[in-house]
Amino acid sequence: MQPWAMGAPVSAHAACPPKLALVTGVSRGIGLAVATHLAERGFQVIGTATSREGAAKLTQSLGAAYSGYALDLADSLAIAQLVKHIEAEHGGVQVLVNNAGITRDNLAVRMRDEDWDEVLTVDLSGPFRLARACLRGMMRQRWGRIINLSSVVGAMGNPGQVNYAAAKAGLVGLSRALAREMGTRNITVNVVAPGFIDTDMTRSLPQAQRDALVAQTPLGRLGTTEDVAAAVAFLASDAAAFITGQTLHVNGGLYMG
Ligand code: NAP
Repeated sequence: MQPWAMGAPVSAHAACPPKLALVTGVSRGIGLAVATHLAERGFQVIGTATSREGAAKLTQSLGAAYSGYALDLADSLAIAQLVKHIEAEHGGVQVLVNNAGITRDNLAVRMRDEDWDEVLTVDLSGPFRLARACLRGMMRQRWGRIINLSSVVGAMGNPGQVNYAAAKAGLVGLSRALAREMGTRNITVNVVAPGFIDTDMTRSLPQAQRDALVAQTPLGRLGTTEDVAAAVAFLASDAAAFITGQTLHVNGGLYMG
């Protein structure tokens, strides 16, 4: 039997109603693992993907602990509308995990404006707009957790990814500024910066490049989605109550801040 089917939530929130967590990009990869980890720890989870089918993927495995919605992070109106709808249907969002992200790689001299704009919109502006929409509810509750998924590329740089590196580094600055704004409201804002994780995003890399990345990683492997989900779940937990404005690197030692 799954832990969330056993009656009382399996977490430190046992006496309280489950906290509501909104996770973007749950159709696959890291987001799917994060949503599953949070549900296993007693959170009520709302997940998004660009399609309804993608967002509904976890319905069967997570049951009543999960609801899915379609959301395109490039659509600022849809972001505001979805948060309003969630607040009306489920209550205020308490944990926001800005996980969804895209890449549109090319060398800088060949990068088209559309590829720059799309990555900055989905990977940086979207998370900001979603956080802004959730903040009112968090401020009312005087409790909130925002966890933004950056990347080792935001800290180290990577040829062919000026757009992605800029967006992911931008998320770190955004998180620090927001952490300072929101501390007195008991809202923490942190970043998880994965290294190279075995998902669709990295499966598109040539095998030689994947092998080279493993060779540069002290722990000698790509990360798993579980490695990242565990870090996100920690930052969402009561154990992380006094941590804000921080970046937790989950990269097997590839970059040591
Ligand atoms: P992934 O497997 O490519 O999945 C991306 C997710 O984002 C999917 O659920 C996708 O939904 C959603 N998404 C894509 N475009 C969207 C849009 N315009 N609006 C809303 N949602 C959208 O990615 P991942 O590897 O799990 O990565 C998750 C996060 O970790 C990203 O922010 C990524 O940058 C970061 N990260 C990943 C790695 C890695 O090695 N994998 C390393 C460092 C950081 P659909 O299925 O509907 O397209």
